[in-house]
Amino acid sequence: MNKGLLFVISGPSGAGKGSIYSKVIAKTDLKRSVSVTTRPPRPGEVEGVNYFFRTEEQYQQMIAAGEFLETAEVYKNFYGTPKAPVFENLGKGYDVLFEVDVHGVKSIKKKYPEAIAIFVMTPDFETLEKRLRDRGTETEDKISIRLGAARRELSEYKLFDYIVFNDQLDVAVQEVLDIVTAEKRKIKNNMARIKSLLGEN
Ligand code: 5GP
Repeated sequence: MNKGLLFVISGPSGAGKGSIYSKVIAKTDLKRSVSVTTRPPRPGEVEGVNYFFRTEEQYQQMIAAGEFLETAEVYKNFYGTPKAPVFENLGKGYDVLFEVDVHGVKSIKKKYPEAIAIFVMTPDFETLEKRLRDRGTETEDKISIRLGAARRELSEYKLFDYIVFNDQLDVAVQEVLDIVTAEKRKIKNNMARIKSLLGEN
């Protein structure tokens, strides 16, 4: 059996990576990873579905116990990917998809270089600014902080294998699905199956 593939979606706040992530999860059998966070739940968010919500003290204990594949501070809250379920799924041959911030991608690539990282960006920075403004939840200060962060995040492009420009959500989702299919069809990701067909193992 081939080991599963680990896909990571990242990109600036407002580029739509969360929406793309949910739609891709709904359309495929990719396993999601439920992150742990110290930020409070938003209305409608469910423990164990959107996140595992923990206090900062509990979070620090999890770090000390080595429970995270990666952890990052994003806008004053901590977010981390629990390690055990990821390797369990990959070992069983299931492909996994995460949504993390750009620091998270850096740590994942360091620990797991085979990870396939997809950067989600708006077609340009003006569109990003408009989307952040249209959310209606961000102050002017926050908008300029997020735009500055977006430039820094894009300048980390070398960490990534693919970029998807999210102009129309459905098109962007399809592009991510196409990337997943192309990676799954790579010869190197099918060696166990090919050798078994040839009776070589
Ligand atoms: P939100 O609070 O809006 O759900 O997420 C804020 C940011 O944290 C987003 O950029 C999201 O991608 C990132 N994030 C969510 N989970 C994780 C995680 O497990 N690790 C890292 N590094 N970032 C995460």
